[in-house]
Amino acid sequence: MGKTVRAFGLLVVALAVGCSSAPPTNDPLVNCTLWVQDSAEYRALAHQAYNTARVQLELALEDKTWSAASEQAGEFGDLAPAIVLDVDETVLDNSYYEARLAKAGQEYESESWKGWCNEARATAVPGALALCQLAHEKGVAVFYVTNRRAELKDATRKNLAALGFPLREDVETVIPRTESSDKTARRAELCKDYRILLLIGDSATDFSGAFVKQPNSRRNDLAHEQREWWGTRWIVLPNPMYGDWELNANGGAPDLEARTAARRAALRGAP
Ligand SMILES: [Mg+2]
Repeated sequence: MGKTVRAFGLLVVALAVGCSSAPPTNDPLVNCTLWVQDSAEYRALAHQAYNTARVQLELALEDKTWSAASEQAGEFGDLAPAIVLDVDETVLDNSYYEARLAKAGQEYESESWKGWCNEARATAVPGALALCQLAHEKGVAVFYVTNRRAELKDATRKNLAALGFPLREDVETVIPRTESSDKTARRAELCKDYRILLLIGDSATDFSGAFVKQPNSRRNDLAHEQREWWGTRWIVLPNPMYGDWELNANGGAPDLEARTAARRAALRGAP
């Protein structure tokens, strides 16, 4: 085979490969994780969320009719004040775990997740520490309601403590997942003893059970219906790396290739 023919052959192969697979820069987990780890915009949004939380915390403390929990009922004005935060991608940055998955071409698995959590090396989401410390200094209880499993509670406490997040010994303030990932019952339990000033999270389910296991169309309608609460009682952190929204986008596809195809098919090229 002459040089020209061989070069042409290689060009054909290169074009065929180029056409049959997405370019590497379109890998969604690489892009999302890099955005969290490396963009000023991610940091700006996290600070924006926690700056908003600081302002709203003051308003909420003064107004005894205020509660951020739809589970709060009865006479709650004189209950001790508390804020409720999710943990992952709300106070702890686990983008390192996502980076490991992206580099290895792997997907989330409970064993590898457990290993990462037990390292207790997550860093703090920008702004989170200052807000939690401020609340603690003001006598506001800080609860971390997470869907990490109970077996990871000690490692989670160790990680939070190492970063300086307020934790109490007299009351368990790290509340892991029970038999259900729905946080409604755990919020309702806290509402018996505390007036909830703010809910802070990265998933819609950190705010209301109404979002749990709903199709994206319903979740989006609910987000609109609750529009007065975002940035006032409910403070949202950005997390493009994973979330319940994916379950719909994946369309129940069984493997990574099929899920990627389902996501591409779900994209709208026009309004
Ligand atoms: Mg979270």
